[in-house]
Amino acid sequence: MLTNEEKAGLKGRGMIISKDGEHFVARILTENGTVTSDQLRALADAADRYAEGSVGFTSRLSVEMPGVAYENIDPLETFLNNNGMEIGGTGPKIRPVACCKGTVCVHGLIDTQGFAAELHEKFYKGWHDVTLPAKFKIAVGGCPNNCIKPSLNDFGISGWMRVNEAGERVPGYKITLGGLWGKSQRVGTPVEGVFSKEQVLSILDQSLKIWMEEAEPKERFGRYLDRVGADAFIARLQF
Ligand code: SF4
Repeated sequence: MLTNEEKAGLKGRGMIISKDGEHFVARILTENGTVTSDQLRALADAADRYAEGSVGFTSRLSVEMPGVAYENIDPLETFLNNNGMEIGGTGPKIRPVACCKGTVCVHGLIDTQGFAAELHEKFYKGWHDVTLPAKFKIAVGGCPNNCIKPSLNDFGISGWMRVNEAGERVPGYKITLGGLWGKSQRVGTPVEGVFSKEQVLSILDQSLKIWMEEAEPKERFGRYLDRVGADAFIARLQF
């Protein structure tokens, strides 16, 4: 029988205890909501060998594999790692980045999957060892249709058009801050303007650092913005 502490430790690795109190659900990451056909075949093999033969896709486009027995956790993780995949994506950290299909969608103004992969490297992996006040979700949408609901994420990015210094219309990015969806809900506060990718990366980095410094324990970014004033917070950002 596992202790609650051991279960919490496994959850931190991406293995979430099931309703039966005995088996685990493996949360398997995608870096931009896509997997290769080889990875799909490996996921099917893994589900047959180490779980109950099924996988589900979460609303944030991670893969969940239910029915993993405790003794199968390590072999499953090794098998997935050997096939270029990993488990994780839980806890008070930057969560795996969600994005829409804007890269291939006819309405897509930006390369959502490419940008999500870049954010995965820089922020999901780059900040992996940083414990935050609370979880922090990022989503990238390809156009104003907002299929992935960026404004319900802590940091929402949407593709729009902007006019550059040469007066040309080029793709750009709108940003919302502090969105929440769950027991407590908040639509993200828009930052006025349409930004370049470099500006988006800088605003994300600044937002994380200020929130980390000033948040109460377990205070989500949106609730922190409500406390300090979203407009006052935005006025402190350099862009
Ligand atoms: S948000 Fe726009 S680009 Fe993304 S899937 Fe929806 S319609 Fe396509």
